[in-house]
Amino acid sequence: MADAKGVLVIGEAAGGQLDASAKELLAHGRKLADSLGEPLSIAILGDNLGGAPKEAIAFGADRVYAVSDPVLKEPQPEAYLAALTALAKEQSPKVIVAAKTPLGVNVGPRLAFRLETGLAQDCLEVKIDGNKKLVANRPVFGGNCMVSVACDSLPMMAVIRLKTAEPLPRNDSRSGEIVPVNPRLDPSVVKAKVIKRVEEKQEGKRLEDAEVIVSGGRGLGGPEPFQKELKELADLLGGVVSSSRAAVDIGWVPYSYQVGLTGKSVAPNLYIAVGISGASQHMAGLSGAKNIVAINKDANANIFKESRFGVVGEWQKVVPALIQAIRELK
Ligand SMILES: Cc1cc2nc3c(=O)[nH]c(=O)nc-3n(C[C@H](O)[C@H](O)[C@H](O)COP(=O)(O)OP(=O)(O)OC[C@H]3O[C@@H](n4cnc5c(N)ncnc54)[C@H](O)[C@@H]3O)c2cc1C
Repeated sequence: MADAKGVLVIGEAAGGQLDASAKELLAHGRKLADSLGEPLSIAILGDNLGGAPKEAIAFGADRVYAVSDPVLKEPQPEAYLAALTALAKEQSPKVIVAAKTPLGVNVGPRLAFRLETGLAQDCLEVKIDGNKKLVANRPVFGGNCMVSVACDSLPMMAVIRLKTAEPLPRNDSRSGEIVPVNPRLDPSVVKAKVIKRVEEKQEGKRLEDAEVIVSGGRGLGGPEPFQKELKELADLLGGVVSSSRAAVDIGWVPYSYQVGLTGKSVAPNLYIAVGISGASQHMAGLSGAKNIVAINKDANANIFKESRFGVVGEWQKVVPALIQAIRELK
């Protein structure tokens, strides 16, 4: 890839609309492309891309590879991999970035292997250094340390965590090029069949988009407080309820509630942690949280080191008092 040029974002779209993760990636990609002084492209894959390519230009892309093929109807990693490998070999981007979504973490490393290059996983920040190399900052040892990784081979690849960049303001008057790509995929590349799609009901806001989150841990002692006290507090503040992994592992709440290294990354204005110890793996999902408030009976709990405000006490007393105080203020 001696003539490698530009930055390529792997964009996800559904129902003819660009996914929020792709908008965030375009913001990262725009910075990288501007530092290199080279164009920013995005590959959007599917069988019906609708308005997604135009949207991508409005959110910062210079060029959109609109990769459409009936085999790409479902977001199947093998189909994505085949189409992206062909595209990357043909276009020779200098940098490729994917989002830390289920599809991105699956396809990213496999694409890197096929392109015979390296990849930095779970990056919080990416930039171009003075030698025009991609440098990625990523947590290691369960979020206890940060490491900077520089890429030595081309293309330089990174998978970037969600909620680490604000999408650029939408500008529908931006111009860009839309390049239709028909990869003519052989259906046999897909090794798994989608038998059924089960959509989990979304009540209220998505955790990833919430401005206020009330989160519970093992200290709650059972599933009921999630539906009662925590929900009441969240409703009062216009927020949503989440949890630590311990509460998920015990079966008190579903996995979709989990925040942390192996759960969701969130970026609320206010994160109220109730009965959560503040293990590094939990805090790894909170790097974007602006204000953390902890309620914990153990004054030495790690969560207090990371919190702006803290109450040492039993949640059974503190949470109802907080609910009452907020009601009075309202
Ligand atoms: C590879 C790996 C990945 C992981 N990924 C994640 C992840 O994504 N997310 C995650 O959360 N964890 C993750 N973990 C687990 C993590 O290490 C912790 O075990 C977990 O976060 C602990 O959850 P917790 O704080 O709810 O429970 P605990 O550590 O048991 O803490 C409970 C807290 O509640 C307090 N408490 C008890 N009773 C009360 C009361 N009445 N009132 C007030 N406070 C009370 C206690 O003082 C304590 O601090 C991961 C671990 C590994 C090894």
